[in-house]
Amino acid sequence: GPGLSRDELKQLVRTVPDFPSSGIQFRDITTLLAHGEGLSASVDMLAGMAADLGATKVAGIEARGFIFGTALALRLGVGFVPIRKAGKLPVECIGEDYALEYGEARVELDPSIIGSDDKVLVVDDLLATGGTALAAVRLLRRAGAEVSHALFVIDLPELGGAGALAEEGITTHALID
Ligand code: AMP
Repeated sequence: GPGLSRDELKQLVRTVPDFPSSGIQFRDITTLLAHGEGLSASVDMLAGMAADLGATKVAGIEARGFIFGTALALRLGVGFVPIRKAGKLPVECIGEDYALEYGEARVELDPSIIGSDDKVLVVDDLLATGGTALAAVRLLRRAGAEVSHALFVIDLPELGGAGALAEEGITTHALID
């Protein structure tokens, strides 16, 4: 069948006010993941967006980017690259620190799994300011990959992430605003 519409997908995302801190509207995909048709339609739409991008690998950002990123990699028939939070990788890795709304975070990558002929798509559940996705892009580029597209289930456009990514040469694609 045709699957769910974008509006129907949007209704499957749960909004939790004041999490993890006061004033934040947390967009929780738990409810979307638990919905069979919603999950399947999300991955179908991501695969549609990625179809002509020529990716040789998909990189997902820990932890929710692992779910959609792995599903997309399977659809595209390419490998999956985990962009990990600090301290998780058992081998020598490269890292990027970036600013969060409050404080700092760090993502890490094992560069040995990237080749100079790789074209990598970045996937996460949600784009806010773009800081997390940009840190992932920098890591992948340092490892030798070509990175020019990032895919998200949700974009919060008022936070300017797509503009921040565009400044670094990245085109943003999202299923839901
Ligand atoms: P940013 O680096 O500002 O683009 O934030 C994106 C990262 O933080 C993603 O990994 C999201 O999962 C998470 N995130 C930021 N804001 C929200 C929000 N309002 N609801 C759910 N997740 C969020």
